[in-house]
Amino acid sequence: MIKLSQRILLVDDNEIDRITIKRALIKSTSPMVVFEAIGFSEATKLLKRQQFDCILLDYRLGGEDGLDLIKEIHREGLSDAPIVMLSGMDHEPTRLSCLKEGAQDFLLKSEIDTHSLVRAIRYAEERKNVTLQIRYLAQHDSLTDLPNRSLFIENVKRAVTRCRRTNALFAIIFIDLDNFKSINDTLGHEAGDTLLITISKRIKSVTREEDTVGRLGGDEFAVLIEGITTEKSLIKIAQDLLNTAKEPLTITNKTIHSTASLGIATYPSCANEATALIKCADLAMYKTKKNGRNGYSFYSEDLQILADDYANLKSDIYDALARNEFELYYQPQIKSSTQDINGVEALIRWHHPTKGFIPPDQFIPIAESLGLINEIGDWVIEEACGQLNNWLSLYPDLYQNFKMAINISAHQIRQIDLKGKICRVLNNNKLPYELVELELTESALVDDIGRCTEKLGEFKDIGIQFAIDDFGTGFASFRHLQQLPLQVLKIDKSFIDEICSSEKSYAIVQAMIVMAHALEMKVIAEGVETIEQATLLQALNCDSLQGYYFWKPMPARDIGQLFHHAEQTFSSNISKGL
Ligand code: C2E
Ligand code: CA
Ligand code: CA
Repeated sequence: MIKLSQRILLVDDNEIDRITIKRALIKSTSPMVVFEAIGFSEATKLLKRQQFDCILLDYRLGGEDGLDLIKEIHREGLSDAPIVMLSGMDHEPTRLSCLKEGAQDFLLKSEIDTHSLVRAIRYAEERKNVTLQIRYLAQHDSLTDLPNRSLFIENVKRAVTRCRRTNALFAIIFIDLDNFKSINDTLGHEAGDTLLITISKRIKSVTREEDTVGRLGGDEFAVLIEGITTEKSLIKIAQDLLNTAKEPLTITNKTIHSTASLGIATYPSCANEATALIKCADLAMYKTKKNGRNGYSFYSEDLQILADDYANLKSDIYDALARNEFELYYQPQIKSSTQDINGVEALIRWHHPTKGFIPPDQFIPIAESLGLINEIGDWVIEEACGQLNNWLSLYPDLYQNFKMAINISAHQIRQIDLKGKICRVLNNNKLPYELVELELTESALVDDIGRCTEKLGEFKDIGIQFAIDDFGTGFASFRHLQQLPLQVLKIDKSFIDEICSSEKSYAIVQAMIVMAHALEMKVIAEGVETIEQATLLQALNCDSLQGYYFWKPMPARDIGQLFHHAEQTFSSNISKGL
């Protein structure tokens, strides 16, 4: 049914034709208000000012082309009204090109009467509705109902066109949730979805009606803000976004604390093109992540340099193995009751040919994202085991009480034949399996708890031990510890840092040690930097200690000297007088 009082925009340069059409429309049983435009510019002016239910558009507008007006309407988003094209010529290609450009129907002027016009308008409306529905589905995220990446980019492009004309400024705020993956992994996808829906609503609630909020993918959102451009007001919006993201949220009886990292880029100072601008905001967000998350950063040019550096590192890391640029350092682990060295942790180093030393925190994530971590991880295992074999032949006492701890990334543990591979290396080096301990971070373990339990069980059966690394930073619970066959718990440095200054940290560390012992796990504290920390941990029965207070990670040669020294003094007390 045609709606009451339809607003029709009639665009035709020929007055006689306009009169004929108006007469036909007036005779219709449903009331219509007809607005007239004689050409392109009059029509666009009217379209900018008000909404229409249908546009009747002459194919030839004097010197202008009706098709151009359709293009303009779509390019500028002037109207969503259905368009019926009117033409004096019955020419199939013309008809087709009109439909292709987005007209919903085509009517020959010679066939115009009330009936045919009303029918054409109604059909056009229905076709338009279907088109709009399909378009909506294609341009919106089905979970949050927000514009998706392609529509968001489209909107930014429009803002660029608009602002280029008017010399106005606008801003984009890129939003990335900080711990979405862990929440998704530990509480399940449904909880993850609920979090995304809640966050999307919260973002909308702190932005204005006219701002575009989009979901760019996964846990990434963005806001397009026009009309507000002073740094101060943008900071205020960023702060509102951070605050709203931080509000606790209860999903299936669990309270979740989530935070967000933001990046801000402004047009035209950061970039003058839509996708480049979004990339700038993304880079700025990355800076926030690097600075410790839960904050905002503005884009600056040095970030581009950082991004270029990152791109260069990416290409260099492919050759690093072949060029022999990696080296393993080893950091001693101290048995707290006797103060002997009872193990070392192998820590990889990259000596880049031009950039010098690059720490593992910077290149391991790149290697993971490029799928190179397995190759590098294999090298680490070979190298560490070869070194252990070498030390054992020189210092056979090590057979009694020593472990080589090797870091394994989440990607490596997913390899089908990791166990076979490690066994081969151990066998080739004639190493007892008990001398190797694999360290896996909390987040890698809770990723797929069922499969991890099974995998770790297989290692346990042959005597290879696992330590849970960085314990306390992720979402692993004591329930996970109970389920997973783990032998060692490694307390994260962040707790050790505060153990002397914060009663809470002290209590947490104490509880961790008691619980781990109850689960028959050994405990090692990492990042021990002072004698006070070491003494407290010793008093709490922490089994082993590792940190700069004792030794920093060092090349194999220096570790060899430590063993040599220990043998010569015949005393195993090589710590600094605990
Ligand atoms: P992680 O496994 O938690 O290793 C401990 C990190 O803390 C090491 O940093 C170590 O040098 C540092 N550290 C030890 N004691 C202290 C201390 O007292 N104070 C301070 N401030 N830091 C201390 P590093 O060597 O830079 O390694 C960083 C991370 O890179 C490691 O964290 C580990 O996650 C990763 N990584 C290192 N080597 C490998 C490897 O061979 N494979 C894999 N997959 N990851 C590795
Ligand atoms: Ca480690
Ligand atoms: Ca650690």
